[in-house]
Amino acid sequence: MTQQQYVYMFSEGDRDQKDLLGGKGANLAEMVKLGLPVPPGFTISTNACRAYLSEGKVPPEVRVEVTRSVRDVEDQIGRHLGDSEEPLLLSVRSGAKFSMPGMMETVLNVGLNDDTVGPLADFAGDERFAWDSYRRLIQMFGKTVLDIDSDLFSDALDARKEAAGVTADIDLDAEQLKALVKEYKEIVERKTGTPFPQSPRKQLDMAIEAVFRSWNTERARLYRRRERIPDDLGTAVNVQAMVFGNLADASGTGVCFTRDPSSGHSGVYGDYLANAQGEDVVAGIRNTLPLAELEKLDKSAYRELRSAMRRLETHYRDLCDIEFTIERGHLWMLQTRVGKRTPAAAFRVATQLVDEALITMDEALERVTGEQLNQLLFPQFDPEAERVLLATGMGASPGAAVGEVAFDNESATSRKADGHDVILVRRETSPEDLPGMIAAVGVLTARGGKTSHAAVVARGMGMCAVVGADDLVVDVAHKQIRVGERVINEGDVIAIDGKSGEVFLGDVPVVDSPVMTYISDGLEAAKAASDGDVETDELLDAVHRLLTHADDRRRLRVRANADTGEDAERARARGAEGIGLCRTEHQFLGDRRKNIEAVIVAETDEDRQAAFDELLPLQRADFIELLAAMDGLPTTIRLIDPPLHEFLPNITDLSVEVALAEERGESGPELERAKVLLEAVRRTHEQNPMLGLRGVRLGLRFPGLFALQIRAIGEAVVELRKQGKDPQPEIMVPLIGSVRELYLVRGEAEEILAEIGKTSGEALDVPIGCMIELPRAALTARRIAHAADFFSFGTNDLTQTTWGFSRDDVETEFFPAYFDNGVLTISPFETLDEYGVGRLVEIGVEGGRSVKENLKTGVCGEHGGDPESIHFFHRTGLDYVSCSPFRVPVARLEAGRAAVMTRDASSTA
Ligand code: PEP
Ligand code: MG
Repeated sequence: MTQQQYVYMFSEGDRDQKDLLGGKGANLAEMVKLGLPVPPGFTISTNACRAYLSEGKVPPEVRVEVTRSVRDVEDQIGRHLGDSEEPLLLSVRSGAKFSMPGMMETVLNVGLNDDTVGPLADFAGDERFAWDSYRRLIQMFGKTVLDIDSDLFSDALDARKEAAGVTADIDLDAEQLKALVKEYKEIVERKTGTPFPQSPRKQLDMAIEAVFRSWNTERARLYRRRERIPDDLGTAVNVQAMVFGNLADASGTGVCFTRDPSSGHSGVYGDYLANAQGEDVVAGIRNTLPLAELEKLDKSAYRELRSAMRRLETHYRDLCDIEFTIERGHLWMLQTRVGKRTPAAAFRVATQLVDEALITMDEALERVTGEQLNQLLFPQFDPEAERVLLATGMGASPGAAVGEVAFDNESATSRKADGHDVILVRRETSPEDLPGMIAAVGVLTARGGKTSHAAVVARGMGMCAVVGADDLVVDVAHKQIRVGERVINEGDVIAIDGKSGEVFLGDVPVVDSPVMTYISDGLEAAKAASDGDVETDELLDAVHRLLTHADDRRRLRVRANADTGEDAERARARGAEGIGLCRTEHQFLGDRRKNIEAVIVAETDEDRQAAFDELLPLQRADFIELLAAMDGLPTTIRLIDPPLHEFLPNITDLSVEVALAEERGESGPELERAKVLLEAVRRTHEQNPMLGLRGVRLGLRFPGLFALQIRAIGEAVVELRKQGKDPQPEIMVPLIGSVRELYLVRGEAEEILAEIGKTSGEALDVPIGCMIELPRAALTARRIAHAADFFSFGTNDLTQTTWGFSRDDVETEFFPAYFDNGVLTISPFETLDEYGVGRLVEIGVEGGRSVKENLKTGVCGEHGGDPESIHFFHRTGLDYVSCSPFRVPVARLEAGRAAVMTRDASSTA
């Protein structure tokens, strides 16, 4: 067995070895390979860290390899660790595969001790600098390696400054720093029982171990959880010869970017600080100079830097961020990486690189994400504006909305009719609140999670929503919101931020997004509105080019979930290629609720049929409107799904109403009707309505209900064809668990359609398929496929029933605890749980296609608009995703990326 290598000189690695060397180590190695001036050093690999974490001690081989590597560094630089003339000092820095800024430890100036501090002063020609470096070492080492409370050091420093009558560290002279070093050493000895280690090698070994240990600090663990970085990666440690930007005025340090990471403007960008170390730049102690000023200070170093920047960008073929130091006129490169950037910069830089022939359009598409596009679409509160924060909930549907508080449908609609913007505030919402939501510009609830009703509907409508703001006491009866001492009454103005989940008191001005104008009105209109702003126009061009390219590349079709003609038109304008889900229950709200009530309370078949007959023309008109808007495109209409109690009054409210009326001795037809209704509400009341009488079960339990909808669809087709249109409905049956259920509905549907066909003379070949949203449906897909013309995965219910999580309750109830203890890293209602729910989707697709090779499959759960899930659906071979109209552009972009990225992966496999 060959012995495992733990330590690598920078010259041995390259940028593809991030797993082994960490991001920083791999990029340092790459710079060495490019011949750029990097202070010599080596990387102790993540293997060594993992060995340390599992065994609790540094493997002995690491010590041996470190000796070899330190000697190599000494030979390269011509200085020696602990040397009494020209001592070598080392920096010891963490560097994991994924950047974890500030989460782990760094120790600088390792190698300084009582013997080397003098020679360092001579070498630098600056005694103060040498003693300041020594006190920084003891302070950093004491805190990081020896675990001493850092306040002890800062208190001593403050006392020393006070005694000297100065306020800044920089004003302490060499003698004062010398005294401070003495004091620091005493603190170390007092706290650890042993003197500060004088052996440079011992300092080095202890610092390396401390960096390994810092992988598991509380804050590092927390950060990883939030960023979804696996806990078992470990960190590498980079040991490198120190160079000093704080030696004299021919020295300095800086950070630069090869393009502006904030706007995406092409041309270099950065900050420089003369006579300083990296920490000083970060801490903002002194004002930095723009990079261009360096040209005046040191023309040759500046030129060398510019040429290194160009090399790096050409080599990485992307925007790079770079840290550098100039030591007495000599440029040293300390770090580089592909730089983080804002969404606008991501789009602009990607297309600039295409135009400069550095990358292809396919590569450019990989460089931008749906989430970045999403951020460019939402209006935002003006960051400059003043605001008063009331509470923070979950940002469930992004956007920025300001309006008057309304607590119910009536108030929301009347305020809107008076020309006011409204925010509908509820404890939680139910389908009954839809009219209020439609009238509102935003929705705020005190309860509920990201897939609760309010959230799903709001996203569907592209409307801003904050849910689960549980600091708010929403008292609908008194028409008040209470937060602590504060009371907000109906009509008061609030502002909600659907991205951050913040709720503000009063008006906060918003700024509109040009990319949104482009998506809804096209490139020309957006450019006309930009008033010739070059940066905006460049951004618009970049988004347009990348989105068009994604459309060319993607295999997945993109449809929208839309219930009305207006929504459908909006979806179509954004590039939807069909409707994947029309939730017809939304058409039974408002005035029509009484018809559903009549269906439920009907005592005879005739009464029930009368209620259906009244609904038929209304449904037909709904479908005519929807199918006309989607003329020529497939439109999946789902038969009614939700439990009927959602259309009935609340059982407690109605009981109280009836009891009070009886107590007052009232009588008459109204009370009688209320009693009949109450009886029906009691009869249909269920403990677990989401697992109860809903979906296909409703259709089989109330004969005539589905028939009415199917008839309305058939008649709508006939009517539209008469108008010369090309309606393309698809009938979808919800909540199928057994093939028999589907056969029953299918039989009924075929009969009705055939009858309409016969009377109208039109052939109605409407596809009939079903949702796969119960585990049993996925597991028996092979059987169900015989009765289905298509499958659409309802991943909301499939997630709910696979996990046994109630989608309306869990997100506020116990998900927070599940995130804390790591059972979940993200809500499975947001990003598809590939291993569990995703496995059922795969089984469903395989099963269906084993019977019908070309069975059309899609997804219409919320996951259809989620980037990560879209990549999964692409790999699983679905034909389309369907998402809210607002997310259509995001889905188009991600579907294109999925196609390009899957191809990349298979060509390198
Ligand atoms: C689903 O369950 O994924 C779905 C789309 O249906 P709904 O959200 O209406 O239950
Ligand atoms: Mg469902």
